[in-house]
Amino acid sequence: MKLLIVEDEIGIARGIETAVMSDGFSCDIAENGSDALEMMKFYDYDLIILDLILPDIDGFEILSRIRAIRNTTPVIILSGLNAIDDKVKGLTIGADDYLTKPFSKVELLARIYAIVRRTSGHSSSVIDVGPMEIDIKQRCVRIYGTEMALTSKEYSILELLAIKKGSVLPKEAFLNHIYGGMDEHEVKIVDVFICKLRRKIANLTGGLNFIETIWGRGYTMRDFEVEHEHKITPIGNLKVS
Ligand code: CA
Repeated sequence: MKLLIVEDEIGIARGIETAVMSDGFSCDIAENGSDALEMMKFYDYDLIILDLILPDIDGFEILSRIRAIRNTTPVIILSGLNAIDDKVKGLTIGADDYLTKPFSKVELLARIYAIVRRTSGHSSSVIDVGPMEIDIKQRCVRIYGTEMALTSKEYSILELLAIKKGSVLPKEAFLNHIYGGMDEHEVKIVDVFICKLRRKIANLTGGLNFIETIWGRGYTMRDFEVEHEHKITPIGNLKVS
């Protein structure tokens, strides 16, 4: 998942960058409106965080222009402007959400995930990974059509892996996703959840593994359609880091 942060106050931009990167997103920063529009021509972002007061083209204008050319990338406005009129205007011209400064990073991440869940960066709310379907609207997972019995935290971990299929996610990203950064938890707990998930998936698939350990970096869900012709890893060969 790739985000574009449009923000002229570089301290704020770096703060957002740190927060989203620790959660496994990658991102670019545009410090003015014309750079932002240029970058959007070249990259297909999954989400844009948009400041309104910028040195050249303001955020409302940027949003109007991208919606006029039918760019439907989700946009969260993040602005010091907190008048109702500004919020209504932003949402009316096509923002998906509006957050005012000063903001909490935990809240920003929660709103990003809410939008990712709604729009899911996928054409439907069901993500397919080989024989597994992750239904992010119903919050359930089916394997060969059979619903998996999952706890809410196990589901959340599988959902995050599926939404970011192909990206390597650090263990901290899972902790943020399941606990919202609210409590202190040992990263080791993530290994326990992954281990349980692998067993449940293996039981329903006759030993297939979908979650790969990337040593020293975290976990990733491979795109099964691409991978399975080359290599199917039986669960017995896997180690949990
Ligand atoms: Ca600004």
